[in-house]
Amino acid sequence: MADPCNRCGKCCLHMRRYMLVERSIGDTQHFCHFILTKERFFARIGGEDLVRFRDSDRMKQYPDSCPFLRPGEDESFHCTIYSFRPDHCRRFFCA
Ligand code: SF4
Ligand code: SF4
Repeated sequence: MADPCNRCGKCCLHMRRYMLVERSIGDTQHFCHFILTKERFFARIGGEDLVRFRDSDRMKQYPDSCPFLRPGEDESFHCTIYSFRPDHCRRFFCA
C-alpha cells in the first residue's frame, strides 16, 4: 500500500510541549520522554539525519515544533529520528 503521508509536517509542528529531551550526548544520542503517552525512549541520529538535525536555523520560525523535525525537500518536513520515533508517531495516520 502506498504511503499516504505527504510529509506536510502538520502533525509534528505543535509537538514540542510533548517531546521532552531529558538528556543528550552531543547531537547524536538523546534520552527522550514523550509526555503525551508517558513513553521514554532513546534516539540516535546519524548520517544525513545528523546533517539535517544540526541545521536548526530554518526551524526558528516553528518554535512549537518537535525538536527533531527539520525541513525536507521542497515544502516537506523530515523526522530526524524516524526509526526511533515513539509509538504515538508510528501509529498516527491522518489520511
Ligand atoms: S501524517 Fe499527515 S499531518 Fe503528519 S506529515 Fe503525514 S500527511 Fe502531514
Ligand atoms: S518524533 Fe518525528 S514523527 Fe514524532 S513528532 Fe517528532 S518529528 Fe514528528
